[in-house]
Amino acid sequence: MGHPFVKDRTESTRLATPWVPGQVESKLKVRYAVSLLIAVCLSMTAIVIGEGWNARQYHLRGSEVEMSNLAQTLASQAQASIKQADTLLFAVVDRLENDGMEPAKIPRLQRLLHAQRGELAQIHGLFVFDEEGRWLANSNNAVLANANNSDREYFIYHRDHPDRGPHIGPSIRSRSTGEWVMTVSRRINHADGRFAGVVAASIYLNHFLDLYNSIDMGSNGVVNLIADDATIVVRRPFNEADIGTSVAKGPLFTQLLPKGNSGTAIVKSYVDGVERVVGFRRVEGYPLIVFAALDKAEVLASWRQESMLSAGIVSLLLGFLGVLGYRLIRVMKQQNHIQNELLEAQEKLIEVNHSLKLLALEDALTGLSNRRQFDLFILAEMGRARRTHTSLALLMIDVDHFKSFNDHYGHLAGDECLRKISTIITDNIQRPGDLAARFGGEEFTVVLPGTDYVGAFLVAEKIRRAVQQTDIKHSGSPEGLVTVSLGVCAYNQTAQSQPEDLIGAADKALYVAKASGRNMSVIAN
Ligand code: GH3
Ligand code: MG
Ligand code: MG
Repeated sequence: MGHPFVKDRTESTRLATPWVPGQVESKLKVRYAVSLLIAVCLSMTAIVIGEGWNARQYHLRGSEVEMSNLAQTLASQAQASIKQADTLLFAVVDRLENDGMEPAKIPRLQRLLHAQRGELAQIHGLFVFDEEGRWLANSNNAVLANANNSDREYFIYHRDHPDRGPHIGPSIRSRSTGEWVMTVSRRINHADGRFAGVVAASIYLNHFLDLYNSIDMGSNGVVNLIADDATIVVRRPFNEADIGTSVAKGPLFTQLLPKGNSGTAIVKSYVDGVERVVGFRRVEGYPLIVFAALDKAEVLASWRQESMLSAGIVSLLLGFLGVLGYRLIRVMKQQNHIQNELLEAQEKLIEVNHSLKLLALEDALTGLSNRRQFDLFILAEMGRARRTHTSLALLMIDVDHFKSFNDHYGHLAGDECLRKISTIITDNIQRPGDLAARFGGEEFTVVLPGTDYVGAFLVAEKIRRAVQQTDIKHSGSPEGLVTVSLGVCAYNQTAQSQPEDLIGAADKALYVAKASGRNMSVIAN
């Protein structure tokens, strides 16, 4: 039992140390730092991926526009080249149908064809065949004896189709010069509409190929001129085996042309399986399609390089940030750890301090106030009684024949007996302001503020009887049980100036009680 002001002070010190919220706060700070670091890294990664994706789409879209423009330009070029030849064929057909095809008229026709061919660089030859496929006239001034072209695709086409429009045949190797050419042809009719023969112009494939090869399309770019029936007329890069090949099952015919006459797309080539960025367009007025395509991998090569570079730089930055963040968080954790240890140490110190204070004011054996606290308390209470003109009383209690109790039952039993008596004393003082203390050895005191000698004597007697009634056996005592003797003294403010005066008076009364036979309370006179 400590003095109240001592107890209050230690508790307020304990409350002033908010170590639990501090620890939570530190943990939160570390969590915020980790979350922030992760958020920054994720954002940077997301931005780089987003930017990379946009750049990729931009590259692909740019190439699609480029291919669309190229397809348009090449379609115009093809249309112009063929139109020149076809216009000539139209005029020849008109002339033959109106003037007739008698042998006498052939030399003049031959000269005309020769002259016209000279005007147009793309034209390899101009030919007129009769209804049997025999050579009637040609621009090269040499009619091959017994030559017959009735087996050519264009001859068979016109013979079997009455339409008067131009026909583009599959590319062939010329019978006269051995060069690769494409043919444009028209049907000649008799007056009654029967088939009378064919007039054909052959155009050098090189006329197209030279242009196609001059365009920078990377190492794997493709330009195709394709007939409406899906056969390849010219292809860059040139490969004889490709000429006449059908691409009817390729994406151009299965996916793209059904949707429109021009457009762009990213598709896998039917010929070589390479994925390409494609632009295509129908040649106006002729059954031809121009198809220009860049290798997608080549289109994306520069983008890939740029992306790798920025990804590398960002990875380095992220790595740097990660290392910095890791160190920062480690330092924060270490700081938190130290802070926690300090707080714990502080907490322990407070506890130790508290125990020390209790030890300094409390009797270890009985838990009553010790002599030190009694001295402080009696001094303070005497001052207060003087100031407030109130009464104050003191009891001195001494166990009877205690030496022989120890001798007979042993010291440990003696200690236990003292603890019991302490409890009895504490149980029999009721006011919060009262103080019970162990004065020394088997002697106790009770300070009773605001109590006069009558009240004090009543308390003394209560204690004495309670000890007696507890019936602690003591064979060395005449009563056969443990008893106490008490000296009661009321504070006399005029006669007693020092605590020793009051204590001495109470002690004297106690002496009288002892001398008078013990187990009694005596009031000091
Ligand atoms: P009286 O009736 O005259 O008071 O006789 P007494 O034997 O009690 O008197 P005395 O002062 O001679 O003996 C006091 C004894 O109390 C001496 C000691 O053995 C015992 N004592 C003092 N302090 C303690 C203690 O802390 N524990 C125990 N067990 N015994 C103590
Ligand atoms: Mg004694
Ligand atoms: Mg004694």
